[in-house]
Amino acid sequence: MSLDLKLASFEGLEEEPRKKCPNCERSCKFYCPNCFTILNEINKTPQLTLPLKTFIVHHPKEKVSKSTAIHAKVLAPESVEIIEFPHGLDTLVENSENDQAFDPESTLLLFPCEESKPISEVNWEKIQNVVFIDSTWFQTSKILRDPRIKDLPKIQINNYKTRFWRYQNVGVHCLATIEAIYYFFKEFVTHKNNGKYEGQVDNLLFFFEYTFQLIQKKYKREKRPFKHIKGYIKNDDENDEDVEENEKEKEKEKEKEKEKEKNTEISEITKEQTQQKTNNKEIEQTKKKKKLN
Ligand SMILES: [Zn+2]
Repeated sequence: MSLDLKLASFEGLEEEPRKKCPNCERSCKFYCPNCFTILNEINKTPQLTLPLKTFIVHHPKEKVSKSTAIHAKVLAPESVEIIEFPHGLDTLVENSENDQAFDPESTLLLFPCEESKPISEVNWEKIQNVVFIDSTWFQTSKILRDPRIKDLPKIQINNYKTRFWRYQNVGVHCLATIEAIYYFFKEFVTHKNNGKYEGQVDNLLFFFEYTFQLIQKKYKREKRPFKHIKGYIKNDDENDEDVEENEKEKEKEKEKEKEKEKNTEISEITKEQTQQKTNNKEIEQTKKKKKLN
């Protein structure tokens, strides 16, 4: 279960008080989700610079304060821009300073589909920007139809299992936005350094990993089930392979059950058919008898 991350220390995070944001006066913990200001007093929040300018297109139907995209903005403020769809995109593209921002020559979109290329197959020479979409699947299709987005060359990352605690019903490989950003940059840095990766962007998961561990500890300590995601809380002696093995076993059992059900159904149908035949015969015989009489 451990990702072996090189993270800044979590020391003091638990004791951090809620604070009022100096800009908007909202009461928050760690950072303000409106202004992206860090509010920590005790813990030192890590700050990163990413190797590409990062645009996160956010659909306003989803609350930005609930999105993990904010982690990227708070942890790498110079490199990350969160853009509200569609008005934020209008403003950005109209601004002459940013006319490169959504130019298909220098900008890629992370989106898995048939035409998207893996990182190793991209010509990175002219690439300066990478775009991520932060929305539900339903809203994503709307964003993808936008003329400024639809012509961007698409890239994809490998398959990873999400560790997100918020329930979603689209499968374990559907990542939280910060996980997608992290794995993208991890693969990008590894590719640029000829296969070597030394934790350069691990701190993108600073708040995510902290919350993940907090939930794991809390539910283990209180021996409570984590109801909305099955198997989310992992025992210390249990690793992913065990869980996968268990899941495979369960899958097999399910298959067997299905097979059984099918067989029962078939035998019932056969029984019914035989019954029907017998009935028909009887009717025939009665008819014959009647005729004879
Ligand atoms: Zn604020």
